[in-house]
Amino acid sequence: MNMKKEVVKYAKMCFDNGLTTGTSGNVSLKKEDVIYITPSALPYNEMEESDVLEVDLKSGEITAGHRNPSSETQMHRFIYLQDQNIGAIVHTHSTFATIFACANLPIPPVHYTIADIGRGVSVAPYARYGSEKLAKNVVETLGENNGVLLANHGVVAVGATLQDAYRRSEVIEEVAHFAYGSYTLNNVKPLSNEDLDDALEGFKSYVSG
Ligand code: 13P
Ligand code: ZN
Repeated sequence: MNMKKEVVKYAKMCFDNGLTTGTSGNVSLKKEDVIYITPSALPYNEMEESDVLEVDLKSGEITAGHRNPSSETQMHRFIYLQDQNIGAIVHTHSTFATIFACANLPIPPVHYTIADIGRGVSVAPYARYGSEKLAKNVVETLGENNGVLLANHGVVAVGATLQDAYRRSEVIEEVAHFAYGSYTLNNVKPLSNEDLDDALEGFKSYVSG
């Protein structure tokens, strides 16, 4: 697999599908001890494979690339260091998920698809973008889940592959939209843990034949 090509493909998908605007958000992929990550402050429509940087997982040093690495490189690195099963990360400021993040409210599990992420999506405490404190808060709140909100900032989704992490960032945004609607209708009805576990079990056989 061409790792840099994959990073650019999903970064552009975030932009094209409305999960990011301007230069917000970042995408990375990990292979062995190398993190492939989007550059900082470069508009998505200008991004090319040669703009993707390589960062050493263990030391955090940039080993290849001619641009500045994403300001959230430490956050990506800390997440990979915490759980070796994670191979890809998508960070966006997608609108409805970020509304919950700005309100410091977790996304309640109002729709069964959230079971793939966790029992809702929790909010990591605020710290300045790009800070080590934010990286630590995100790792702590993410725990074993596949997604987390960043207070007054945005959302992070993780997965074994970029396909998984990207799909989850879409699911989180969609469920945030549903939850927002439920709040406006004054009738939020979260699913029980039992229903969420049951849905998760069902996903195992949800494959195209
Ligand atoms: P970068 O352009 O440095 O990746 O930053 C965007 C962002 O979303 C910071 O949290
Ligand atoms: Zn951000």
